[in-house]
Amino acid sequence: MTCYEDGVLVGVKSPMMVGRESALTQAELDAATYRGCNNIECEQCGKKVRVFDRQMVGDRSGKSLKDAYATPDFGGLLVTNEFSDAYRTYACACRIKMVSGVRMLAEERYDSDLYWSCAGHGSEEE
Ligand SMILES: [Zn+2]
Ligand SMILES: [Zn+2]
Repeated sequence: MTCYEDGVLVGVKSPMMVGRESALTQAELDAATYRGCNNIECEQCGKKVRVFDRQMVGDRSGKSLKDAYATPDFGGLLVTNEFSDAYRTYACACRIKMVSGVRMLAEERYDSDLYWSCAGHGSEEE
């Protein structure tokens, strides 16, 4: 089961799904009780999207997301500072995005060519 509308990205003020929690439903979206999807995959690089709470993107000059993706600290690309508290940063091997509110992935697809979508929840996916 995948999240309705490809799932949502949420800032740290909204909850992320935990473990194998069930997918986000249309009813939850209608009620604006968002839970950030915790199993997002990028259709462009094929990687799982990594999530970093209370961190934001620092100086990216000369650094490749592909190299950063493979390292535990995301290549030192992320920073913690007085502004980072509101953010959750999501990153795959080709795109990186800071989120402070709620972003629907179905809309990101059209607004910013971000091809991330829910890769499913629950036992049937495995
Ligand atoms: Zn999901
Ligand atoms: Zn990607």
